[in-house]
Amino acid sequence: MELVGEEEFNAIAGKMMSPRRNMDTFNGDDFLCACGSHHKFQKDYIYVVSEGFNGKFVFMCPSNENLISVIQTKMKWGIFYQGLEYLAGTEV
Ligand SMILES: [Zn+2]
Repeated sequence: MELVGEEEFNAIAGKMMSPRRNMDTFNGDDFLCACGSHHKFQKDYIYVVSEGFNGKFVFMCPSNENLISVIQTKMKWGIFYQGLEYLAGTEV
């Protein structure tokens, strides 16, 4: 998995704040992670570092806490939820 630098990561993530969304919605959903593996989102298993705008989140890798990923909720026509899309990852 190709990782980006911290600056680029922050540019892709955009403005971030503390997570406030009820993440139960995403339980069981697969996402690609900065470590190169796919994980299943589980609220108690995946640490959500922060939440941004446009359905973006920063997730911490469950197998390597030094890796974080920007994940965006993929929407069709802005209405239908299509899954979690990996945008970028970095090492912290
Ligand atoms: Zn991972």
